[in-house]
Amino acid sequence: MRDKAVSEIFETASKESRDFLFEHEAKNLCGSYGMPITAITVATSEDDAVKAAEKIGYPIVLKIVSPQVLHKSDAGGVLINIKDEEGLREGYNTILKNVKKHVPDAEITGILVQEMAPNGTEVIVGSTYDPTFGPTIMFGLGGIFVEILKDVSFRLAPITKTDAEEMVKEIKAYKILEGVRGMPPADQETIVEILLATSKMLMECPEIKELDMNPVLVYEEGARVVDARVIL
Ligand code: ADP
Ligand code: MG
Repeated sequence: MRDKAVSEIFETASKESRDFLFEHEAKNLCGSYGMPITAITVATSEDDAVKAAEKIGYPIVLKIVSPQVLHKSDAGGVLINIKDEEGLREGYNTILKNVKKHVPDAEITGILVQEMAPNGTEVIVGSTYDPTFGPTIMFGLGGIFVEILKDVSFRLAPITKTDAEEMVKEIKAYKILEGVRGMPPADQETIVEILLATSKMLMECPEIKELDMNPVLVYEEGARVVDARVIL
């Protein structure tokens, strides 16, 4: 049986006639399944954002929350590495201005204030719902590896721990996860845990039609889901 908090996320989206989850909702969903997410707060005023940033701690990332803006950076809706209150106040208004310019009729739900995750190995975890087979799970390295080289592994959900370990090892760029050319190795155990948690989430949440955790930053120890998108 899934958590009440999980059902509430889908109920809110349904009440608001949305066929997607906002980033903070998608992250809270992932967090409910034990995945490591960034600290997040939705602010609806500049002063709110300052308070949230003080609580989370600088540096901070700001992102637009709008039903019309699903690809946030395309609309100038993401600012990273904001170092202090002055930068935060300026950034808050810059995002609103950028979004107004790129998507003039965008409704602004708020501004997402979040922890700035340190650099790590970028991976992605995704899912699409196959009408015949149900939810699939995809894993790959982020950036050019997935976009240009299509270097990804797939399984049908649910997966076992062995499946998850194989998914990690069968991508062509696997060596990168082991650490090469001065790049530190990535915590493969944490990746496997994220894949297993994703599988459980997909099995318990048939509402999810598409899932895209892009990127997940992986460290020598641990990881952070930095962006998450869910289509219902
Ligand atoms: P989009 O909706 O455009 O995919 P993202 O949330 O993925 O927006 O943000 C764009 C990029 O900004 C990410 O790919 C990542 O490199 C960086 N980024 C976003 N959030 C964070 C964060 N909390 N910490 C560090 N980098 C981040
Ligand atoms: Mg993204």
